Amino acid sequence: MKCPICNNKDTGRLSKSRYFCSNCFIEIFYSRKKELHLLKISEDGSTFPISN
Ligand SMILES: [Zn+2]
Repeated sequence: MKCPICNNKDTGRLSKSRYFCSNCFIEIFYSRKKELHLLKISEDGSTFPISN
């Protein structure tokens, strides 16, 4: 899984369809409809969606 924002190939895998980019601090995951979603991870660990 490559990060769609920075093209970092070293994304970590959180679960079956969830990935994490330590470079941009975002979570990447696919919905059931195979739509790509991006979540920004804030310093306190909470996430919020990024519109692309
Ligand atoms: Zn990235």
